[in-house]
Amino acid sequence: MSTYNYDLFVIGGGSGGVRAARIAAQHGARVALAEEYRYGGTCVIRGCVPKKLFVYASRFNDDFEDSAGFGWSVTRPVFDWSKLVSMKNQEITRLENIYHRVLKKAGVESFNSRAVLVDAHTVLLTNNGRSITADKILIATGGTTNKDSNLPGIEHVICSNEAFDLKNLPKRIIVVGGGYIAVEFAGIFAGLGSETTLVCRGNKILRGFDDDISQILTDAYQKRGIRIINNNILTSVEKTKHGVRSTISSGEILEADQIMLAIGRSPNTNNLGLKKAGVELGSKGEIKVNSQSQTNIHNIYAVGDVTNRLNLTPVAIREGHLFADNVFGYLPSSFDYETIPTAVFSTPEIGTVGMPEHIARKTFTNIDVYKSCFRPMKATISGREEHMLMKLLVNTSDQRIIGCHIVGDASSEIVQMAAISIQMGAKKIDFDNTMALHPSASEELVTMREKL
Ligand code: FAD
Ligand code: NDP
Repeated sequence: MSTYNYDLFVIGGGSGGVRAARIAAQHGARVALAEEYRYGGTCVIRGCVPKKLFVYASRFNDDFEDSAGFGWSVTRPVFDWSKLVSMKNQEITRLENIYHRVLKKAGVESFNSRAVLVDAHTVLLTNNGRSITADKILIATGGTTNKDSNLPGIEHVICSNEAFDLKNLPKRIIVVGGGYIAVEFAGIFAGLGSETTLVCRGNKILRGFDDDISQILTDAYQKRGIRIINNNILTSVEKTKHGVRSTISSGEILEADQIMLAIGRSPNTNNLGLKKAGVELGSKGEIKVNSQSQTNIHNIYAVGDVTNRLNLTPVAIREGHLFADNVFGYLPSSFDYETIPTAVFSTPEIGTVGMPEHIARKTFTNIDVYKSCFRPMKATISGREEHMLMKLLVNTSDQRIIGCHIVGDASSEIVQMAAISIQMGAKKIDFDNTMALHPSASEELVTMREKL
């Protein structure tokens, strides 16, 4: 019999922590978990889920507009921001309760408190000062929004957390950043009717994605009235009578009702007692782990955004699951970080798996590029001036598909399916041999024959 209170103590009730706790308990471990805010973590409370609900809301305008070409007349639709926020809150509360129930049903003891490490086997619950010991400790504390603390007037800007609960829909908004969150929120606000400006410090949005993706989305956003200002940062912000005013590095002055920063996220490792326990951190404050999610302290593990490997919900969940299987189920396993599909829920949407072209060209001696950029069938009648992109990258020597990049309707759904074959090692001939499904957009993926 162990002398510790628990076999496993999990700090953080988000995607990674909850999965790890449940699976470890199902393997027979005595498990406890502490959550300082709301169960479900970033994804459920202020990330993927509310974001996707807002994305759905923002796309109805397109449907109303597109329907005219198909014979519909729609009287001017009216949007109610507070109704959306309230429906979103109902849904995330429902999901939060499910997370609670899942833990309870698995026999995990939950503590509604912040927990910090006291030493390698002891955590302190800060709400009541109770110390708890455990044989193994899993840190799954996620990440936090970055704020540019040197920016004069930083107190007048919001981040994604606040954007989910604004009292009013801003008439004008400036979104700062060029990554996932900035691009998604610019699409949301523009779709809901806000006059939207995106300020990006680099020379293009979505740096790191395939260049064609960045270009097509830039064109689409500009056609949708989003102003994209590249090569600029905010140099100051001040409050005005009706909103906020910001000077950017070019010297231009921008005015808006809200300014939202989305300039990356940092691992949530501050004041966690990691130093006391001897846990090593990397240069960005992330917990350093090996392929088994184990830190330099043999009984302390970490999964999810706090390790800054690939900051996506399914990755945190898989890391948590594998940790529990490895350590408590004695089922050694790992997974491949190279073929993880991802989507940017912009409008139009982006789905991608594998390497972008600029990385593939550096990695392989020769690659074949297949690309189709076309007007989707629905747009022919709706009149919408938007193009869909399908792009496949193939390693010339063995003909394996090494990248698949899509922009357009349902691209997240299409890429999820393409990822199955790509992680199985599909070759171009396998795609060619697959019968097309007609009429669909994704039939392009199996009918492209001409290399660029
Ligand atoms: P989290 O889910 O952040 O959970 C960490 C938990 O730990 C939190 O609940 C926190 O309150 C708790 N905690 C922290 N410190 C302590 C402590 N000391 N004691 C007790 N509890 C503590 N990913 C996708 O795959 N798809 C998307 O569409 C997507 N959209 C996103 C949109 C936004 C706006 C954001 C911000 C993120 C999005 N992500 C998306 C990323 C995704 O949310 C994260 O990768 C995922 O939530 C990470 O899970 P995690 O378990 O590592 O951490
Ligand atoms: P990203 O890392 O995606 O993008 C950060 C952006 O901010 C980049 O454009 C970066 O520019 C810019 N930036 C960084 N520092 C500064 C600065 N000081 N001033 C101005 N601009 C700056 O981070 P996000 O915050 O958008 O999202 C965090 C993570 O959350 C994502 O990486 C992703 O893992 C996850 N996420 C996933 C989603 C999904 O799956 N759909 C949706 C939302 C989030 P540069 O390119 O020059 O470095």
